[in-house]
Amino acid sequence: MLIIFPRLWTDYFYMGFKNLSPPNTFNTKLFYMEPQIFCQSCTLPLDNVDDRGTEKDGTKSEMYCKYCYQNGAFTDPDMTLDQMMDIADTEMKKQQLPENIIRQSMDMLPRLKRWQPVSAEV
Ligand SMILES: [Zn+2]
Repeated sequence: MLIIFPRLWTDYFYMGFKNLSPPNTFNTKLFYMEPQIFCQSCTLPLDNVDDRGTEKDGTKSEMYCKYCYQNGAFTDPDMTLDQMMDIADTEMKKQQLPENIIRQSMDMLPRLKRWQPVSAEV
């Protein structure tokens, strides 16, 4: 399944990262201190409730966006971190994001909850 990242995603990246300067202060701690919530699968910001995925009972997910997560399950459950990074990298280059934004996103992806070892889950 091909994920089409919306134009919105690009705008959100600019909004999300411009507060994170200088870039070398970007780390896990700072990431979690940010008030902004990011999709824990693809880094799409979830500030807009309409962008959030849905749980089985129809409530909005606090953790994942609507492109990654619907009805309590990932839309593409077999996707690997490498594939997600490929897609994000390709899409961001296509949208001509600055190189440092792309690097920060690539740095952030492996730290997201979806990509942590299975043993970390309850
Ligand atoms: Zn997502």
